[in-house]
Amino acid sequence: MCIFCKIAKKELKSDIVYEDDLMVVFKDINPRAPIHLLVIPKEHIGSVNDLEEKHQKIISQMILTAKKVAQQEGFIEKGYKLVFNVGRDGGQVVEHIHLHILSGGYTRSLAEI
Ligand code: AMP
Ligand code: ZN
Repeated sequence: MCIFCKIAKKELKSDIVYEDDLMVVFKDINPRAPIHLLVIPKEHIGSVNDLEEKHQKIISQMILTAKKVAQQEGFIEKGYKLVFNVGRDGGQVVEHIHLHILSGGYTRSLAEI
């Protein structure tokens, strides 16, 4: 089982800020911004490259969940960046689709995650 599946199943400890039937949102262990969260679906999907028509609900729910958490955590008005890294050249290290949420002060370095 991959590490993000283990986080979703609570077999691996993480700092979860939001959870529902489809999604888990937790703090990135190596934050690249003052606020750095990861949105993952509970279902294992490797990356954007593995998305199929049947995943439409999940993929839209990832973005809606990011917005919900931005509201919940109080940075929705200031703004935030959403990033999908895809594959090796896209900088993807963990092979379980995840949406990075970065906030807490804009710097160019937020482009390098
Ligand atoms: P990516 O490079 O897009 O695959 O991003 C994977 C992210 O997962 C990185 O920003 C890591 O810091 C983060 N990460 C890896 N392991 C953990 C963990 N156990 N708990 C929280 N975040 C993690
Ligand atoms: Zn997984």
